[in-house]
Parts: sequence; structure tokens; C-alpha cells
Amino acid sequence: MLSRVLSSLGAMVGGRPLRAEPALREGDVTVVPSGCAHNCGGHCVLKAWVKDGRIVRLTTDERPDLDDDPQLRACPRGRSYLRRIYHPDRLLHPMMRVGARGEARFERVSWEEAIDSVAQAMVRARDRYGPAAFLNMHGTGGASLFAGSRMSQRLLNVFGGQLNHHNSYSSAAARWATPFSLGTADAGHSPDDWVNARLILLWGFNPTETVFGTNTSYRLKLARRAGARIVVIDPRFSATAQALADDWVPLRAGTDSALMDAMAFVTISEGLQDQAFLDRYCVGFDEEHLPAGAPVGASYRSYVLGLSDGIPKTPAWAEGYTQIPSERIVALAREFARTKPAALLAGLSFNRRAYGEQPVRGTVTLAAMTGNVGIPGGSPGGVSYSISRSLPIAEFPRGRNPIPESIPVFTWTDAIVRGTEMGAADGVTNLPEGQSRLRTNVRFLFNTAGNTLVNQHANVNRTVRILGDPSLVDFIVGIDQFITPSARFADVLLPAVTWFEKNDICGIWGHGHSLIFMNQAIAPLGECRTDYDICAAIADRLGVGSEFTEGKSELDWLEQMVAPAREADPSFPSFDEFRRRGVHVFKYERPHVAFREFRADPVEHPLATPSGKIEIYSQRLADMALEHVPPIPRFIPEWEGGPWDPLFEKYPLQAFGRHYQRRTHSIFDNVDWLEESQPQRIFMNPIDAAPRGIENGDLVRVFNDRGAIEIRARLTRRIIPGLVDVPQGGWWTPDERGIDQRGNVNVLTSERPTPGARGNAQHSNLVQVEKVRA
Ligand code: SF4
Repeated sequence: MLSRVLSSLGAMVGGRPLRAEPALREGDVTVVPSGCAHNCGGHCVLKAWVKDGRIVRLTTDERPDLDDDPQLRACPRGRSYLRRIYHPDRLLHPMMRVGARGEARFERVSWEEAIDSVAQAMVRARDRYGPAAFLNMHGTGGASLFAGSRMSQRLLNVFGGQLNHHNSYSSAAARWATPFSLGTADAGHSPDDWVNARLILLWGFNPTETVFGTNTSYRLKLARRAGARIVVIDPRFSATAQALADDWVPLRAGTDSALMDAMAFVTISEGLQDQAFLDRYCVGFDEEHLPAGAPVGASYRSYVLGLSDGIPKTPAWAEGYTQIPSERIVALAREFARTKPAALLAGLSFNRRAYGEQPVRGTVTLAAMTGNVGIPGGSPGGVSYSISRSLPIAEFPRGRNPIPESIPVFTWTDAIVRGTEMGAADGVTNLPEGQSRLRTNVRFLFNTAGNTLVNQHANVNRTVRILGDPSLVDFIVGIDQFITPSARFADVLLPAVTWFEKNDICGIWGHGHSLIFMNQAIAPLGECRTDYDICAAIADRLGVGSEFTEGKSELDWLEQMVAPAREADPSFPSFDEFRRRGVHVFKYERPHVAFREFRADPVEHPLATPSGKIEIYSQRLADMALEHVPPIPRFIPEWEGGPWDPLFEKYPLQAFGRHYQRRTHSIFDNVDWLEESQPQRIFMNPIDAAPRGIENGDLVRVFNDRGAIEIRARLTRRIIPGLVDVPQGGWWTPDERGIDQRGNVNVLTSERPTPGARGNAQHSNLVQVEKVRA
């Protein structure tokens, strides 16, 4: 099949002629359309130039760059992929642990030995603990249709089941909280609607560095060209602020809700709210529109004006928390209230903080107060990136799981240590009738293409103590391309292929825009196999091979998964033609505007909230009575957030780990070209560095009670004083003292979850920084 694809390449991509690329015609080089689909939300074209079975060059999308169909160009990470494929540290053979778990001492074994060992351990664990002791780890390096973790999930299901998990490390609080206000988490507009906005607030949203879906920054640029003013609210003068902002509003990290409350105060005090919209479409803005039974004084208006607690949420009040001058808060509030339409596009940064649920619901409240819901150029707040228009494709079927119960994914280490104590109060859902706790602790971990096991989970030192204890964890299977910090803890480590050694399909995050076929360009390196092949081999050894594969090859599954696209879009080509073209773009009559029908007729098209309206006051939340998750959104000073926390005296700097342009989470950390362009550093303001005697480039120690890292400092005024930034994703590399030498921020982060979603609050940390040496 591969030769059939190769022979027909070079003619058309996306239905249009390729721009002339001379090497295409030089006989001994073949150009294979493929792509990159890491978990940055992007999906980008990469074309592999293959000579003598080896990729010698990668190029990207060269189609005409049209406003309504922009190129899907790969970023520097994708363009550096050759350094990953042929990296000298590629895992090329199956390995078995010979040292203590985590020591990373392995010996090479045959595939047969490795598969036998995994199968035997699975049978032992199932017989001893039952299927609920198995956990398929969250996190996959690939965001494609055939991503690895889906394979192992299916494997565990056909074998007998597994403990489920819900939420993610990206958007737990956002996706949990938004439905309380809007009835769904899919609250975004498609990016082609942003040109209709006159004002765009990018609140903790940094797509120029994180990508957040291919062409997100480009769409913002088009909006600006069409007349939108862009204001970035961020404690860092991010690349997005530099490239796109008309104004930058820096604030103390974690005080977003205080700013929102003060903006609401100005709006109400000056009578700028869209009262007609609030009266018709919302519940709980004022006392007159509270649900029956809600206590007097429980409305958002009463809270903001201080009628319920005696504290008016004035700009001066907010200045103390946010460090934004009050006159600037006033100006921002007036601009947002008076400019129509205006879109408040929030990133996910504040959802990963101590009380991440609050600012998420706060964005919905501001959008509702200004009447920006359900109209072109507006935005309802909440999860802004996720829209209800999904790609017309089927998912890889994960099989039926007889175990219904599910844990918040961030609490998986608790499920190892005290699973049988965990119940609804810990966020466990779907407990069967008569069962109030998990039936067993987690004992067996399947970690496919993921680095959350160690590197990306909070409090690394705690995590590795748990994983390294064989009395707690019986067995860990790792499937990966490298011996990552997580793979180090595998008992059996199985080598997996890269994009270019397999067939797959990818589509952009949540926008229903396009699909890319990622053709296999070269044979697997060494003894590497696809995740599908690996899981099929294990299933076979367990006697459930035919249940796993249903007799289908990878290509059979991919063809089955895109079959709905042909039904939804008559222009979608045949499967073979899709493979040849590489890209298919779906066309829509108009941009997607969330809740357009609701806005037109809220009675005929109610929201999926209990009242059918936007619930600024949520009776459901009131009934749940969760500590620190009130029925109206409000500012709650964070733990490890600022001077109000007693820990501040010992650890006076906030620390967080932003997404770094040179990595997708932890992927690409070992790519030398990217390290050369953007080395791992701690970013801090000279105002914080000076009293510590720290100069640019010095080696510093960053520490708190959870651990310490040593890392070189980059002094910059592009971050507010009081906050240090250790970009997340550096591969944990402890020295003999246990001090990490690679700048893994999760050595410093806390496993304490957010109060509602039980999601990760990995941006809320207090630390101290001291100089080690120049
Ligand atoms: S890392 Fe993301 S933006 Fe970069 S090429 Fe890959 S999918 Fe595209």
C-alpha cells in the first residue's frame, strides 16, 4: 500500500497543485505527505523527503495561504522532527528492568520475552485484585485518531476492564465549572468569527507560544486587521502580548477573579450592564432573579457591591490583590462594557490554579453582563477554545468497560495509596449502587506515550516515592520512544514508532476545520512497533487478540473512522484519495457562534442548565455545598498565592510553569536544536534578582518544602516582580542529592487538587530562589 501512495505523490495536496519543489523531481527522493499532531491543539502538515529509506528533510504546507483556508504550517518543533526520529537515545528494543524501579537500569530482551512478561503480570494482577486495579495513565504524546493511550485503553477493556478517570491536566476546572453556568463546556466560537469582534480580551491566553490550535494567532491577527483592539491580561509580557496586543494588563498571578469582580463593580456602579439581557437570559445576577429558595443577598450584584459581606469589590479593593492600578481597572471595565461586540477569550492558565473554578465562571458572568453571548464577535466566556462543532469522524472504539467508577485523573496517586478510602468526596463518580468507595487500590499502571506518570504530575518527589514502592505498585508497563523520566519507572519498556513510521490521522482541537492524513514514510526504526501492534500482541498472548483487533489492520480502522466524513461532506474524497492528498478542509456556511439559537429564542432553545438560562447563581452548586465553590463566582485568596498566605514569609515568590514554545508539554525536551534556540531557564524580574545577588545566567536553586531544582536564571522585565517562571516540561534529572538539574517545575508543585473538579492546581506555588554560583 505504501508504494501505491508514494507513486502517486507530488501531484496535489488539498485539491490544489503543490508549489514546485525541485527535489520532488530528482528521482531518488520521494516526498510523503504526513503531519504532526502533538497535544498543542495543532495539526500541521509535514512532508517527509525520503531517500534510501531515510528521511533527509522535512518541509511543511506550501499551499496558497488564503484567509478562509490558511496554510497548516508546522512550528519549529515539528520542523525539528528529524532530531527526534534519529535521536541517538531513541528506544529501539524491548527492555526489562534489572535495577530498582526508577533506577533506569534495563536489559534488552526479545519481543517475545517482553510480551510474555507483561501478559503474565496482567493475569496475576487481575486474579489477585480484579480489573479495577488497572489504570491506563492519562497523557499521550499524540493527539491523533490512533493515539497510543486509546490502544491500551481498549486492550484493558477487552481483558476485563479498568478503573476509569475523568478530567485532564489541561482543563479540569474549566470543563467542570463552565457547565454550571452554560450547561455545556463547549462554549467557544470558531476562530473565523473573531474578525467580527471590536474588542478581544485575551485573558491568560498565549497562543503565539502555545499554539492552541494551528493558526490561532493568525486568526487573531486577522481580527486585529479588521479593526479589533486586543488587550492581553497576563503576568508575563508574553509573545502573544508582544505580537498582537494593543494593551497589556499585568496582574499578580491567581488574582484574576479579583479583577473580574472589580470590573463588574465598575460596570454596575456606572450602569453599563446590559440589564435587558441579564433579565431575560440569566439567573442570579440580582436579587430579583435569584432562584426560589436562594437566600437574600446571594446574588452576584449583592456580592460585588458589598451588600452581602460589607466589602464592595471596588477597583481600589482589587488593586491590593492584583497590583493593577485602580484607574486602569476602571478603564478596562469601561472599555469592555462599552465596546460591542467584545470577545473575552480565556486560556487555561487560571483554571490550573488553587481555585480555578472561580475565574472560569467569572468570565461567563462578565460576558453575560455585557450582553456578548450568542452574537457574532462576542464570546460567552467559559471554555473558549472548545466548540460544539466537531469533526465528522468516529473515534477509535475503546471497548466496553464493566467497571463504571471513575476518579478525577489528577488524584491517581491517591488511588494507589488510599484508593479503598476514596469516594464521592474525592470526586469519584459512577460508583455502582451500594458501593461508596473504590473497590481496590490501583496496583497496575499502563503508561502509553505519556510522561504524566512522573514528569508532568505534581510533586515529583512524592510521586517517585510512591511508584518506587513495590508494595504499592505491582507492575508498570511503559510504551515510549525514549527513556523519559516516566519510562524510567517501567518494569517492561516497549519501543514505539514516531508519526513517520506509522499511518494515522489528525484533526485540530475542537474546531471541526480539517483532517490530515499522516502517511507512513519510513519503516519502523530498530525493533519499534506501533502502539496498535504492541497492544494487539499483548492481547493475543492473553487470548483476546481477535476481540482487540476484530481482524482489522490499522488502515482498516482509520478508514472506518473517517467514513462519517464522507457522509457529512460530499466533497470528502475516497480513503485512498485522502491519503494521496494528505489534507481535507471542511467548509461551513458561516462561523460557529455559540448559543446563537438561545440568543434568538431562549424559550425554544434553552441552555442545558436546570433553569435553561445562564446561571450566574447556580442552585446546583448551592446544593452541593462544596467548600470554596460558592454558587456565584467570586474571588477567594489562594493558598500559596500571595502575602496573605502564612507560607509567604518563608517562600516569598510565586512560581509557575508556563508552556514553553520549544516544547509541547515535555515532548521535544531532548531536541538539541530547540534547546539551542530556547534553553531551559528560570525567568525572573531583576527587581527580585538584585537583593538575592543573582545576575543574568547565574545558576540558582529554586526550592520549597516539596523539593529543589537548580537552573540558570534569565533576568527579564517581561515578567512581573514577585513571580518566577520555570517553563513546564523539562525532564526531571535528579542528582545524587535529589536536586533536579533540568528545571522540572513539578518538583515544586503541589498535589492538592482544586475544590470542585479535583483538578490540578499546578500553577499555585510559593518558592524561594537563591544563587548557587555564577
Ligand atoms: S508541535 Fe503542534 S504546532 Fe508544532 S508542528 Fe506539531 S502539531 Fe503543529
